[in-house]
Amino acid sequence: MSNLRFKVVEEAFKKRPIEVKSPSVRPSEYYAKYVFNQEKMFKYLPLNTYKKLREVIEQGTELPMSVADEVAKGMKKWAMDMGVTHCTHWFQPLTEGTAEKHDAFVVHDFKGGMVEDFSGKELVQQEPDASSFPNGGIRSTFEARGYSAWDPASPVFIIEDTLMIPTVFISYTGEALDYKAPLKKSLAAVDKAATAVAKYFDPAVTRVTTNLGWEQEYFLVDEGLYAARPDLLLTGRTLMGHDSAKNQQMDDHYFGAIPERVAEFMRDLEIQALELGIPCKTRHNEVAPNQFELAPIFEECNLAVDHNMLLMSLMRKVARKHGFRCLLHEKPFAGINGSGKHNNWSLTTDTGALLHAPGKTPEEHLRFITFVVETLVGVYRHNGLLKASIMSATNAHRLGANEAPPAIISSFLGKQLNEMLERVENSTKDELFTLEGKHGVQLGIPQIPELMVDNTDRNRTSPFAFTGNRFEFRAVGSSANCASALIALNTAVAEALTDFHIRVEALIAKGESKLSAIFDVLREDIKRCRPIIFNGNGYSDEWKEEAALRGLDCETSCPLVFDRYLDEDSVRMFERMNVMKRHELEARNEIKWETYQKKIQIEARVLGDLCMNHIIPVATKYQSELVDNVHKIQMAFSDPAKVKELTAYNIDLIEKINKHTSFIAENVEAMVEKRKVVNRIENMRELAIAYHDEVAPYFDAIRSHIDKLELIVEDEMWTLPKYRELLFVR
Ligand code: ADP
Ligand code: MG
Repeated sequence: MSNLRFKVVEEAFKKRPIEVKSPSVRPSEYYAKYVFNQEKMFKYLPLNTYKKLREVIEQGTELPMSVADEVAKGMKKWAMDMGVTHCTHWFQPLTEGTAEKHDAFVVHDFKGGMVEDFSGKELVQQEPDASSFPNGGIRSTFEARGYSAWDPASPVFIIEDTLMIPTVFISYTGEALDYKAPLKKSLAAVDKAATAVAKYFDPAVTRVTTNLGWEQEYFLVDEGLYAARPDLLLTGRTLMGHDSAKNQQMDDHYFGAIPERVAEFMRDLEIQALELGIPCKTRHNEVAPNQFELAPIFEECNLAVDHNMLLMSLMRKVARKHGFRCLLHEKPFAGINGSGKHNNWSLTTDTGALLHAPGKTPEEHLRFITFVVETLVGVYRHNGLLKASIMSATNAHRLGANEAPPAIISSFLGKQLNEMLERVENSTKDELFTLEGKHGVQLGIPQIPELMVDNTDRNRTSPFAFTGNRFEFRAVGSSANCASALIALNTAVAEALTDFHIRVEALIAKGESKLSAIFDVLREDIKRCRPIIFNGNGYSDEWKEEAALRGLDCETSCPLVFDRYLDEDSVRMFERMNVMKRHELEARNEIKWETYQKKIQIEARVLGDLCMNHIIPVATKYQSELVDNVHKIQMAFSDPAKVKELTAYNIDLIEKINKHTSFIAENVEAMVEKRKVVNRIENMRELAIAYHDEVAPYFDAIRSHIDKLELIVEDEMWTLPKYRELLFVR
């Protein structure tokens, strides 16, 4: 019997690592080789143009067309020196991933030939057809145009023969059709609101920058095994598969030695990422077998988001070169950990960090507390929205499923920070005070020096944890565009800081001193945001009950969670902070519901096909063999008691198989019928809810019977690679 599964497993075992040579031993020598960074700007642009472009980038001012033309000329020169022939605007539509449309660097020379050209206009704007991207009804059919416009804050880079230009993507009437446009607006909102507040403590502050350091988790699977799993291929996750007898229970994978084939992949990935200016720093095994993580040094938020998008596509590409497939799905395998993408978020001014605990001077301590408290106020007030910002059909498998993170947004602060907040809340005098920073621990081990330990502890179950100099938004999914979460978080914090400033100013206007006004507002806000602070176990059932009592959003149904975007409080916030308008939010929600429904629909189809084409036929074939055996025993023995004894086990199996295949067949049919019924629903939200409530519940029920069959059917007959192979062969 020719079984593809055996063939691919055998081949996967034979694969050797592809050795990767580094262009140089020092990453600093090839870092940003393919990026039009400051150094190349200086080399390729006239001095005046260089200065103006730096000003645009640093001050966030608008780029005049005359400057754009000069910049384009210099870029073209650099690109052609690098062997580039094409350019594309590179943007982040509301699908997953990025989009590009390549144009050659050529125009007619009007003498029958061609010349290489690239103008400022081409650099600054393009018109990709918006009708092929999701727009949630913003675009009317007669106006299909969408515009992409260069974002000078994110440098241009080269991939193979193409100059990639990071852009925003907007409709003819100016609505955002992407993630970058609202992200940039949210960053501007934080800058404005946070600068005003930071000035209370240091009048020299002129600008506040938001930083992001993401940690990308992923799985690697041998590509042969992957190809033999239609569910992985088409949905990004396994829709069936019995637990491997061994998986992560020994905790032996986490931080273990990296397997050689994987190590070569990582090396290759990191070299290519560094050449593209992505500052890779950390790599390690994750908790689940074949699960890994890559984290860079944090960067300015907008740039960090672009780098994450770029890294995700690079991971997929480099993995294939090494005979792997990279799985970015949040939950490719049931029963073991899923993948997330911690978003480490912090604020810095042009004179120092704002969330670095606890600061040097008493003023810095108060400033630190102010920014922590106002972040918490924003997170508390919009906790439902923040959950909506990280929710998706794929991430829903992690949220609330007894693993990181729970489907309730709360914040862990740690002992020291909690005490600080209590001290401010209960203070009766408006006095500055100093707090402890790191402290030394004498180890008493010969030759090993004193260890400096942080005063912040860790809680892995918290979706939004304070970790010393930043907050970690841990609920973000591994396949997500970080921008979705950050648009919501930034805007919520900008709103809280704006309100803080207004209230402090009002008290000052009434004659209070600045210090006393700040203390008064802080005391009020600490009390107000108490419900969001939770330092216990976020996975426990008691927390679910308590969170509901505290009034936190506990909804778990993905399409209903999306409703939070359209709450009056959310719409008001986005409009007030100039990030998005109501109809943009409405349009984006249409896309969310539609994407959700389509994903579940595809999964339902794939599951149905696999049941009918793989599972039932294979199980039936095995069942026939058992029936054959029973027949033969009946022929061979004449004593009925003996026959009964010899056939009992197989007859039991025959019946079990029948029970499972009948259940599967009946339920696949019922699931198809259900789809036919709900597909008549025209309203996108209602349709998504119907898929969640009425179609998706079939998946687990059907799966449990398939997984039982996997254990019964003879191994050699089973066609789909098993978990133990997907997770351990490399
Ligand atoms: P852990 O897994 O313990 O959280 P990692 O080293 O894996 O730690 O990841 C830390 C991430 O946090 C990195 O991406 C790093 O750049 C980022 N980071 C560190 N300090 C800050 C900061 N002040 N602001 C934003 N991100 C930060
Ligand atoms: Mg982390």
